[in-house]
Amino acid sequence: MLVLGGTAEARQLADALVANGIAVTSSLAGRVTNPRLPRGEVRIGGFGGATGLVEWMRVHDVKCVVDATHPFAARISEHAAAACARTGTPLLALIRPGWSERPGDRWFWVGEPAAAAEAIPALGSRVLLTTGRQGLAAFAGLDQTWFLIRCVDRPEPPLPPRHELLLDRGPYTLAGELGLIDAHRIDLVVTKDSGGEHTVAKLDAARQRGLPVVIVRRPARPEAQRVATVAAALDWARFHAG
Ligand code: NAP
Repeated sequence: MLVLGGTAEARQLADALVANGIAVTSSLAGRVTNPRLPRGEVRIGGFGGATGLVEWMRVHDVKCVVDATHPFAARISEHAAAACARTGTPLLALIRPGWSERPGDRWFWVGEPAAAAEAIPALGSRVLLTTGRQGLAAFAGLDQTWFLIRCVDRPEPPLPPRHELLLDRGPYTLAGELGLIDAHRIDLVVTKDSGGEHTVAKLDAARQRGLPVVIVRRPARPEAQRVATVAAALDWARFHAG
């Protein structure tokens, strides 16, 4: 089984597959310098598009694929769908549910980082920015806004001129997020709809402090059978592994 990874759920699934005696290779893109590794075999780096993935699957006799990549990793999901369709390989998408507003929230949904950048000046001047390392260029032109940029690895320029960098990977707590908001006098949170428990505390903290949130919608995904939990993906894997 091939697990396309890079998420906590992918790691948990690989661990569970190994515990169930199912041969698994987890694939990581290689974006993070010191990734948390799952049990089982691990390969790192791109395949070379859908064609490269088809070739890799043939050489390694892959029987089925779980796409457990991040909800914003749209390209690899497209490639997985194309490669599995081409080779007739069963494909499952393991996607954590997105976040949704709760009473007291003031969220502004946008389609992409550029739209988030456009929305900022009217909403705040000291921003906690957690949209990830990729796509920060969209905010580089905002020279009147101060950003606390939090991401796992150091981002490449261009970055907004007034910022502080916070390299961290979570999981985060409500107390920690409230402390961060207060210490930096944050008045706006800008994030993307990653979903899951590990990074949701910033949204709880924003609600508690009455702060607005600009949130980037998930990109469209290819058609595939979907589950939302590691347990459901494990059931599917057990069935397909015979
Ligand atoms: P992407 O835009 O969908 O992928 C870009 C290229 O990176 C793909 O075409 C593929 O290269 C390679 N790639 C991506 N995921 C791969 C994987 N699991 N194994 C092997 N190659 C992979 O993805 P991304 O946004 O750069 O994200 C890269 C990885 O980081 C993903 O595994 C994802 O789960 C994780 N991640 C992403 C985010 C995010 O916000 N995007 C957040 C947290 C974690 P080839 O075409 O050469 O095969």
